[in-house]
Amino acid sequence: MANNCLSLVIHGGAGARRGRDYSREIVHMRELVEAGRDRLAAGALALDVAEETVQALEASGLYVAGRGASPNTAGAYELDACLMDGATGRAGSVAALQGFESPIAVARAVMDWTPHVMLAGEGAARFAAAQDQAAIADAAAWFTHAGQDESNHPPGTLAHGTVGCVVRDARGRLAAATSTGGVFGKLPGRVGDSPLIGAGAWADERVAVSCTGQGEYFIRVAAAVQIAHRMAFGGEALAPAADAVLAAIRALGGEGGLIAVDADGNVAMPFVSAGMKRAALMPDGDIVSAAF
Ligand code: ASP
Repeated sequence: MANNCLSLVIHGGAGARRGRDYSREIVHMRELVEAGRDRLAAGALALDVAEETVQALEASGLYVAGRGASPNTAGAYELDACLMDGATGRAGSVAALQGFESPIAVARAVMDWTPHVMLAGEGAARFAAAQDQAAIADAAAWFTHAGQDESNHPPGTLAHGTVGCVVRDARGRLAAATSTGGVFGKLPGRVGDSPLIGAGAWADERVAVSCTGQGEYFIRVAAAVQIAHRMAFGGEALAPAADAVLAAIRALGGEGGLIAVDADGNVAMPFVSAGMKRAALMPDGDIVSAAF
């Protein structure tokens, strides 16, 4: 495989429900893949493209992240996001952030402008305000509740939704970004896997991963970093490493999926849920997309 190949994968959440039409989301994700491909072809960094793509997913209001998020049981919108740069090992994250349009942009600011990796709750909101991040003036008017259909899951399962992006740029740098409204009906203060480096996202020099699914299970298997460790210490290739992690989640009773790209540009998009909205620029230049 050419070592300057570009790869970019997007997910719009593994909470997809059979019978629902996701053609609008698929068209949107394909447009974002094309935009990201053009940015990468012009020399953009993997980290910047991952962040920009997730920001566009958040802003669309089409997914259960950013503008599309739903409230917790107290009626508050607490959002989670993180990103990681495989080339430098740097990362930024926010958890239970309220009042700001783009959690991923605030996570990037945490990475760029603080000595920390993660800020949560009130402290994250104060930091976002000090950084002049775009604030939400009127939550009732802002949020679209994109996942209302997806919240209607069988009893005992946690309905959920998330967005994510993994990228390999022309110089082989990898990056991952994940942003979510979390699970439906979550308790105030609940934090899932999405803002946790190593659970909901990971990037190093070998692999970049963004997860989606019932976060409680992804945390318990350290999903994203487990793929990296299987590859680094077990010599596994990307696809079997990703499948093994999802098998572990399924064995615990969880469901979900993930997107991943490795240093050679190989792409994996497995899921053990009813579906996972996804679109990808493959290393040969093809763009593929599907919801189920
Ligand atoms: N992983 C997210 C969470 O548990 C939800 C999702 O990916 O759909 O918050």
